[in-house]
Amino acid sequence: MSSHRPPTTLAHANPSALAASRASGPAPSLSAVVPAYNESANLPVLLAALTNELSRLTQQWEVLIVDDGSTDNTVQALSPWLASPGVRCIRLSRNFGKEAALSAGLESARGQVVVLMDADLQHPTTFLEPMLNAWRQGADSVCAVRSHRQDEGWVKRVGTRLFYGIVNAGSSVQIPPGAGDFRLMDRRVVDALVALPERNRFLKGLYAWVGFQTVYLPYLPDPRASGNSTFSLKGLRRLAMTGITSFSNLPLRLWSGIGALIALCSLAYGSWIAVEFFVSGNPVPGWPTLAAGMMFFSGVQLLSIGILGEYVGRIFEEVKRRPIYLVDREWGSSSLAQKPEPSAATSGSTPVPPA
Ligand code: UDP
Ligand code: MG
Repeated sequence: MSSHRPPTTLAHANPSALAASRASGPAPSLSAVVPAYNESANLPVLLAALTNELSRLTQQWEVLIVDDGSTDNTVQALSPWLASPGVRCIRLSRNFGKEAALSAGLESARGQVVVLMDADLQHPTTFLEPMLNAWRQGADSVCAVRSHRQDEGWVKRVGTRLFYGIVNAGSSVQIPPGAGDFRLMDRRVVDALVALPERNRFLKGLYAWVGFQTVYLPYLPDPRASGNSTFSLKGLRRLAMTGITSFSNLPLRLWSGIGALIALCSLAYGSWIAVEFFVSGNPVPGWPTLAAGMMFFSGVQLLSIGILGEYVGRIFEEVKRRPIYLVDREWGSSSLAQKPEPSAATSGSTPVPPA
């Protein structure tokens, strides 16, 4: 948990006054939070670009790598950087998943503005400038949205569409489909996210839930620089279930509707059988009707119990109140990188070279 967090700035009553004060004031201190799981090949390349960009954009910055229990040599790959001002690494005690790693980074970040980005160079560092400009114009949350999903397979695209359809149909907040974790947030938004007590964290939903003025900027993610995506179909299914159970009661409510519909149909069918028997004298068809009906209702019941189980499982995880993540070790700079005074500076930027 951060103990060095600067005090939250007072909200301005007038949004244009807020924009004016941000536009005319000095650049805010910036924290870049990077969750990393087995990214030792990508991190040095990212750090070179990111530290350059941050020192160009602001006087005070930090890069916070959250090593999510990597099994490669991530810490060794980072060691030349960890001696430089502004670069920190938090190593979690095991692989807790990206949502937990991001939560760890958000809790520990000290900047007035926090930017979240992936370690695999899919999120271009050059996009930080337009994001920061949107913050200067008054936005509290600036989200980079994929302009299209042509690079993804059709299974993932259909799955994504279905997922957002279910979540948004049963939720009081709308989660934009292309909005991922590449975003820049004001300290007020970060504090609001950190204060949320839930353990099952679906951050894409939580960003929307906390609200604040949000701006969406379209961008095209670069291809992954090295290695493969860690999100298997199983991992995506898990995340989707967390998203649905955290943000939508639609699957639960659906069964009340289906139950009512089936009850009405069976009432109508029962009336029809009675009419047929008394009016036409037709004998009632026996076991095929029963067998088909039983199989249908067993299936419906098991499915609805399964869906209830998903929600009950999440409640069980919440009431255990285990921490979202555990920190193993921390390395690196105890303070933000500070740009030297203009007289001492040799150029506008102070990139941090590896030893
Ligand atoms: N990541 C993580 N923990 C995990 C899986 C992924 O911190 O358990 C990080 C990963 O290192 C990367 C980011 O989350 O920086 C996005 O992961 P990935 O590129 O695999 O996902 P995709 O871009 O395919 O959605
Ligand atoms: Mg990626």
